[in-house]
Amino acid sequence: MSLAHVRHWVFDLDGTLTVAVHDFAAIRRHLEIPPEADILSHLAALPAHESKAKHAWLLEHERALAVASTAAPGAVELVRELAGRGHRLGILTRNARELAHISLQAIGIADCFQPNDVLGRDEAAHKPDPAGLLHLAGAWHVRHPDMVMVGDHQMDLQAGRAAGTATVLVNQPENLWPELADWHAPDCTDLRKLI
Ligand SMILES: [Mg+2]
Repeated sequence: MSLAHVRHWVFDLDGTLTVAVHDFAAIRRHLEIPPEADILSHLAALPAHESKAKHAWLLEHERALAVASTAAPGAVELVRELAGRGHRLGILTRNARELAHISLQAIGIADCFQPNDVLGRDEAAHKPDPAGLLHLAGAWHVRHPDMVMVGDHQMDLQAGRAAGTATVLVNQPENLWPELADWHAPDCTDLRKLI
């Protein structure tokens, strides 16, 4: 199979289409989350009032980052090329949907995504759970192998594998997870050469 034939693309956002800026160690320190814990899973397991307060802090912290988003190298050109070919594009992010919209607007490609095709942590179980990909496959009436999940992190690839989609690792100089990634590109400029 070639990526040139894939017409349904789902992207991670932070670190994939935008330059990664989250300082997760600092977020964990501020929210008193152990270094090895998954941030979203940890918050979900807290008592309701504490979970709500910490989620609210996280949302505001991430809002400031979203407003200041900058595009990853080649990301705007890649997305515009795919949209120009009439391909269906989605976002699956562990960030909040409203902040994903802000980030997409900040880097100038919000018009390439239908609002309902942008799934945040409140729309689907967070990655590595494949729920968001399965939801988009259903909404788009597409077989899972005819979709591709693109991301910069192991969790993006795990979600793709679990959903049965093709997978692409980007924005890592080496293919860190060859067993999970069907393709690897050092950045979105190189990925565009594969489509
Ligand atoms: Mg990422």
